Amino acid sequence: MNLIFLGPPGSGKGTLAMYLVEKAGIPQISTGDMLRAHRAKGTALGLEAQSYMDKGELVPDSVIIGMVEERLAQDDCKNGYILDGFPRTLAQAHALEKIAEIDMVVSLVLDNEVIVRRLSGRRVCPDCNGTFHISLLEDEKKCPACGGQLIQRVDDSEATIRNRLKVYEDQTAPLIVYYREKGLLREIDSSGSVEDNRRELDKVLK
Ligand code: AMP
Repeated sequence: MNLIFLGPPGSGKGTLAMYLVEKAGIPQISTGDMLRAHRAKGTALGLEAQSYMDKGELVPDSVIIGMVEERLAQDDCKNGYILDGFPRTLAQAHALEKIAEIDMVVSLVLDNEVIVRRLSGRRVCPDCNGTFHISLLEDEKKCPACGGQLIQRVDDSEATIRNRLKVYEDQTAPLIVYYREKGLLREIDSSGSVEDNRRELDKVLK
């Protein structure tokens, strides 16, 4: 099954995708994670992406599309995958159509103010990729899963979050209409707990 998880930043796409990775045994393809890995390695692609990411802007389509094409050609994608954070523009959706058959687009719906609260309190662990909210942490600096040092992503500052939400509205939200018209869209209210969101996802996948 080839799935797209569509939704504004902070709507829980990554957390829900990880649940499905375990359950269905298909890989999560997160373009945000791939770009951060390029940056950590200091590749030319990572350097090009850096300034866009830190401002909350989209990395140019040409860079992203090539990166995803290469990833989807790998062996572990043969039995399906979850695209998390891609496509984010109509040009990306058109490019995807040429290389893949999408079975379903799961669109996560959440209020912007809830997103700002969620993301500005988000801390991530660079060692195990875990994501946590400060309201649930005993120690804001220590990863409860692996003991690593938690950090706040540069693009999780409030001003950048608001810019990312605007970029989403302008450039990514048109994909909701695009996939609805193709009959592929299923919407999930992602304002509940992680368990609620999992149940919602199970329902639409049935
Ligand atoms: P994410 O982790 O999905 O929130 O992505 C972090 C940042 O990476 C975004 O704010 C963009 O700058 C960049 N990015 C990730 N995926 C894409 C994409 N499909 N198209 C353009 N830029 C992207």
